[in-house]
Amino acid sequence: MAGTVVVIDHPLVQHKLTLLRQAETSAAVFRALLREISMLLAYEVTRDMPLTYVHIDTPLASMQAPVLAGKKLVVVSIMRAGNGILDGMVEIIPSARVGHIGLYRDPKTLVAVEYYFKVPEDIAARDVLVVDPMLATGNSAVAALHRLKDTGARSLKFVCLLAAPEGIAHMHEQHPDVPIYTAAVDDRLNEHGYILPGLGDAGDRLFGTK
Ligand code: URA
Repeated sequence: MAGTVVVIDHPLVQHKLTLLRQAETSAAVFRALLREISMLLAYEVTRDMPLTYVHIDTPLASMQAPVLAGKKLVVVSIMRAGNGILDGMVEIIPSARVGHIGLYRDPKTLVAVEYYFKVPEDIAARDVLVVDPMLATGNSAVAALHRLKDTGARSLKFVCLLAAPEGIAHMHEQHPDVPIYTAAVDDRLNEHGYILPGLGDAGDRLFGTK
């Protein structure tokens, strides 16, 4: 199966992404922008959610009105930077359940090491949005998706801000069934596994840790 990449090229997303990339953007502004851009990503990523019709009464008349149907959502954050996207997503989809996967990159091998895993028990019955701002080597995303599939998750989408061609290739090789939604595909990785031109370390920029 060929993998899918959807680039969300909405002008508001692209404008906010440029502000996020800029080195002089403070942690406070970075956090606010990431929250805003995540709401816009959520809007695009959920565009295919099925609707059903219910009978309602407005103050003036009765009508059949659309409401969300079918499976419910769970947003799974790959910590720690994924929490920046999670916050915006649950603000616009308040009924979504939340999962967390703690993974860090071994700085020498760049391999993803798991330190935390907690997701809703009924994840197999839900549509899952896995969120992490940076798809770099793809090691964390690939490991997270294997773990979620082992837990029974079947309907998965991966949502990020920036993707490197290397990460996309890795995802397509390991999880061709999982579509990738991103605001941009950047040039390449540097020798430390960072995306170029990128935006730096998303976790440090979000939490002001450097
Ligand atoms: N993680 C980050 O935070 N930034 C990158 O460029 C790559 C991985």
